[in-house]
Amino acid sequence: MRCAISRWLLESLLREAKAAHSREICGVLLGREGVIEEAVPVANAARDPERSFLLDPAAHLAASRTARHAGRAIVGHYHSHPSGREEPSYADAQAAQEQGLYWLIIAGGGARLLISRRGGEILGAFGGIEIELF
Ligand SMILES: [Zn+2]
Repeated sequence: MRCAISRWLLESLLREAKAAHSREICGVLLGREGVIEEAVPVANAARDPERSFLLDPAAHLAASRTARHAGRAIVGHYHSHPSGREEPSYADAQAAQEQGLYWLIIAGGGARLLISRRGGEILGAFGGIEIELF
């Protein structure tokens, strides 16, 4: 499976992650199947934002509403791993309850894309997706 994302968008997320230093950034991804068109930052409401992320529920809802009004769909979300590890954590696997969402992990100046899939080959929770830059 592949998913397209513009170089410009990916680079802006890499910059956002770098600027946050040791804190995890997070946000929602808008687009359609096979294409990520836009990323909307959402506050990280985790109690320990240096080790985990939690999309702030109110901000998440507001982003969903804005997306819907613009006729766009939320296809997943992104977060960063300041540790530089591109692999999803066990906490990520546990949080991947909603199926078929893109999970973009920004780490170490690069990115890895997954899709939540119960029984998937990655931690039993994700399948790998190849990023197609355009
Ligand atoms: Zn993670």
